[in-house]
Amino acid sequence: MNEKIDSQRRRLLVNAAVGAVMAPLALSSLGVAFAAAPLLSPDDPTAKSLEYVEDASKSKSAKKGSHCGSCALYQGAAGSTQGGCAIFAGKEVKATGVCDSWTPKA
Ligand code: SF4
Repeated sequence: MNEKIDSQRRRLLVNAAVGAVMAPLALSSLGVAFAAAPLLSPDDPTAKSLEYVEDASKSKSAKKGSHCGSCALYQGAAGSTQGGCAIFAGKEVKATGVCDSWTPKA
């Protein structure tokens, strides 16, 4: 009896996991677009405290040649113009930007 319940429970959990993975794919195939995270404003208090700028060439404190696109904390795809950042959760940063937490990719 317990084996039957365990089996049903396992099947339910597997179906829930498959559904969680497939739902976004199904919605995107139907043309339902997901909104990108908003772009980080340089005026954001945390951005200001870390000297974030959208154009690394205008940074007064960044290491020469550093920019978000070459940062280990950048979460955008290779070649993307903007993407997420591990420091600024829920926001996107410009690939051309930089802040004082820049960390070179390994
Ligand atoms: S931590 Fe890296 S990716 Fe994030 S804003 Fe700073 S330089 Fe850009």
